[in-house]
Amino acid sequence: MNYFSRVLLALLFFVSADNVVAQNDSVMRAHFINVGQGAAALLEFPCGVVMIDAGAQDDEYEAKLMDYLARFFKRRKDLNNTIDLVMVTHPHVDHNQALMQLAQTYRVDRYIDNGMRTGSGKANQKWLQDNAAGADILYENITFEKVTKNGSKKGLTDSIIDPINCPTGNPAIVMYSGQFINQPDDWSKTAFGNANNHSLVVKVTFGKSSLLFTGDLETEGIETLLGYYSGTKALDADVLLVGHHGAKNATTEDYLHTVTPNIAIISCGPWDYGKNEGSGFNTYSYGHPRISTLNMLGNYIPGRRSEAITVQAAEGARDFRPYTVDKKIYATPWDDHIVVRADLKGKYTVTTTD
Ligand SMILES: [Zn+2]
Repeated sequence: MNYFSRVLLALLFFVSADNVVAQNDSVMRAHFINVGQGAAALLEFPCGVVMIDAGAQDDEYEAKLMDYLARFFKRRKDLNNTIDLVMVTHPHVDHNQALMQLAQTYRVDRYIDNGMRTGSGKANQKWLQDNAAGADILYENITFEKVTKNGSKKGLTDSIIDPINCPTGNPAIVMYSGQFINQPDDWSKTAFGNANNHSLVVKVTFGKSSLLFTGDLETEGIETLLGYYSGTKALDADVLLVGHHGAKNATTEDYLHTVTPNIAIISCGPWDYGKNEGSGFNTYSYGHPRISTLNMLGNYIPGRRSEAITVQAAEGARDFRPYTVDKKIYATPWDDHIVVRADLKGKYTVTTTD
């Protein structure tokens, strides 16, 4: 073999080893895309793709998200620039900033949200709700009451919630919560008025692999779900997208005891985003992620990262300190894009861009 053939062969190997699921692979990949202070996850299956949230910190991160998707669809030409389903957990702009651009750039077949028409992301949410029918997009809104109809504890699924049906690996996508139409007895008026508590809660099961997404659900929402699904495996998952960007009000001991995650992912901005501004809607002012949350996750997650890293984490709002992470806790500000490969046997491999 001459030099050029060897280079070509090496190149081919490199391309095939890239982060992409081939059509006949029995694996899925969850791409937690670095969108700064926001959330956007792309679930890649052998024959289709689902997005959970399409947020971004700002225009710059929205462009990065679109760039990631462009590169993704270039690798997966078989998907024909089509997203089978986009879900937006709740109508805040850090979860749906890119929604309009997404729907204008790619073919979106289905769209799910919690039905609300208020909140910082209401413009994009209302736009898609109102234009879905004309654009031939199937739309469904999810409420807690609908998911738990007749006292069901099995969650809700249908052909919009779970449109993926690949012969080599067929995920089960199930909804466990959405907008609360009725105020639960033990919620304050403030908790009920907070869109975070009306986040979609979605679990994706792929063979023995499982991933849980709870949007920005806060303590009140978590307590209600823990009570309702008590004694079931509804909230049990291996891969957890940590709620509310790793904030102090979205992770509890009881919750982690129920979920028993092996891998935690945090989607938030760089720690110093907003450091030189006054208080505002930024990572520095929020204090994401909190050291208290990282400590709790560290106690429940058994496995370690390949290498411990020292990062900046928050003791409180606008109070960051060095913190060493050695367990399998990954976060977009430290790891950039995070890709979790999962197979049908429940085996996971995490790769990060950094
Ligand atoms: Zn958020």
